[in-house]
Amino acid sequence: MSETTLEKHTFQAEIRQLLDLVVHSLYTDREIFLRELVSNASDSLEKLRHLQGTEKDITDPELPLEIRITADKEAGTLTIADHGIGMTREELVENLGTIAHSGTKSFLQAMKESGSTPGNMIGQFGVGFYSAFMVADEVQVFTRSWRHEGESLVWTSDGVSGYTIEESEGVSRGVKIVLKLKPEFTEYAEEYRLKHLITTYSNFVGFPILLDDKRINEVEALWLKNKSDITEDEYKAFYQFTAKAYDEPAYRLHFSADAPIAINALVFVPTENPEKLGFAKIDGGVSLYCKKVLIDADPKGLLPDWLRFLKGVIDSADLPLNISRESMQDSALVKKLGSVISKRVIKMFEKEAESDPERYLAFYKKFDRFFKEGVATDYPNREGLAKLLRFESTLTDAGKFVGFTDYAGRTKDGQDKIFYLVGPSREQLESSPYIEAFKTRGLEVIFFTDPVDEYVVDSLGEFDGKKLVSVTQAGVELEDAAAEGESLNADEIEKLCIFLKDELGDRVTEVSSGKRLVDSPIIALVPEDGMTPQMRRMMKAMDENFKDEIKVQLEINPRHSLVRKLSDAREKNPEVAGLVARQLLDNALIAAGLLDDARDTISRMNALMEKAMG
Ligand code: ADP
Repeated sequence: MSETTLEKHTFQAEIRQLLDLVVHSLYTDREIFLRELVSNASDSLEKLRHLQGTEKDITDPELPLEIRITADKEAGTLTIADHGIGMTREELVENLGTIAHSGTKSFLQAMKESGSTPGNMIGQFGVGFYSAFMVADEVQVFTRSWRHEGESLVWTSDGVSGYTIEESEGVSRGVKIVLKLKPEFTEYAEEYRLKHLITTYSNFVGFPILLDDKRINEVEALWLKNKSDITEDEYKAFYQFTAKAYDEPAYRLHFSADAPIAINALVFVPTENPEKLGFAKIDGGVSLYCKKVLIDADPKGLLPDWLRFLKGVIDSADLPLNISRESMQDSALVKKLGSVISKRVIKMFEKEAESDPERYLAFYKKFDRFFKEGVATDYPNREGLAKLLRFESTLTDAGKFVGFTDYAGRTKDGQDKIFYLVGPSREQLESSPYIEAFKTRGLEVIFFTDPVDEYVVDSLGEFDGKKLVSVTQAGVELEDAAAEGESLNADEIEKLCIFLKDELGDRVTEVSSGKRLVDSPIIALVPEDGMTPQMRRMMKAMDENFKDEIKVQLEINPRHSLVRKLSDAREKNPEVAGLVARQLLDNALIAAGLLDDARDTISRMNALMEKAMG
């Protein structure tokens, strides 16, 4: 190397500023420097591959398109080499000495716009090539452009004020970056460390990455390939690799889109739900890539939380590579990405459920809680998710499930409500007095038997414009149904209702006769705006001092023999009638799950039994 070829340059002011930040700020993610350098190499190789299609005259055309990483522990150096397009002297100055290029520019832009401290800011951006100075106190870039007139050059800098460019011998096409590691960062010359970093961040980079001559990245970026070129086995292997899973995926969604943003996504739904098996809340399993380079293995704020069971990869060429974890959550682009993906996933489930309901149901039984959580927390996807829910109803055989769409599709003319009842099991709900009236009228009632269903229904509110209404609620207008059997007349009914209201006082808001009941004498209806029995139970479980006065509305069945006898006894045997009235209320509260204290009930029962036996 002759003295005459040495050119001294000073960095542009902005670059100096940037370097100062990179080097002197406490930066927690130093290790990303390798990702940045590898993706620069990959970009360059990509460009060369492009040129191969159009240019005849490329320097050293036989050189392999690969990325070689070598470490010398003794010397404390790390070398990253590619045979990409390389750089000419002008390009070296332009690319590595000014901020004409994207990453650095946006970094400085953001730094200017934000008032926050540099230490803060640096963590928010990858800074491309300059991140090398986070771990090295000298960086050399040996390069030769693909153009024949290009020289063999070496760019050298300590990352402080400037750099030199001089001619160098024996440089082949591409770029070879040699980092002289700072003493405290010689860990980056350890093979195991490098291997880990490469498989973590750069595993899907589309060119072979060789570490000390051994290929490290084995897995193809399957998500960028054509569906028709991928076998089932390849999909499965990819799933098992990315999800670190051993099972078969239950479902898969592979799609690409250009608008509104460029997306290539390949996501899987596992067969088993670890949360159901009793493990703690799982972490997200979808990684975010930009052109095969990992941005974040578990990007917060990309997908809604309920989709945490999803595994796989989302790649968007529209993302800036240097988007950071911290800025990700606020990025409109990332939000848009998440919204597109979650909508697609929901659509996929809908289609799968349609084409193979049995299979879907088996899956649903393991994963239902995620969908329910989604209904309660993911407002934009609420409707879509509601379609995925399954339940039994008065019109299904035990063990057979339907969805809201089935329900809405077979409602009676003019039915603008969806009826449901919440309780511990189908058997219990079926024998509930609340169901009778709906059954006789052929109105379908959904059985919600999962403890969280109450909240799901509450957040959902309606489906397809039909309000969800509990059959325990007062104020459900039912059309007249031909009621069989002898009934009390209007006058008797009125007197009995007044009697009951008098006897029961404040515990009831109203007593009336209705057409709901068939086999039961009486039911308690909860006020429309009141707390449901399940909510009350929940409140009590959470707060032992929780107390509220339950006031229900009573509806009597004027055809029931017990009610008719009570009407008789009202005048003939007021003492027994009073006991029976209070017992009937307790019975109704028990059926509704609303009786808090059974002490009175039991002593009253005893009194009644005594009387019955004379
Ligand atoms: P960015 O990649 O965001 O443009 P960098 O600071 O990482 O910013 O790189 C600056 C520029 O240097 C790149 O745009 C590219 O033109 C050039 N460069 C960096 N690494 C290489 C490489 N391995 N081969 C060819 N050119 C490179």
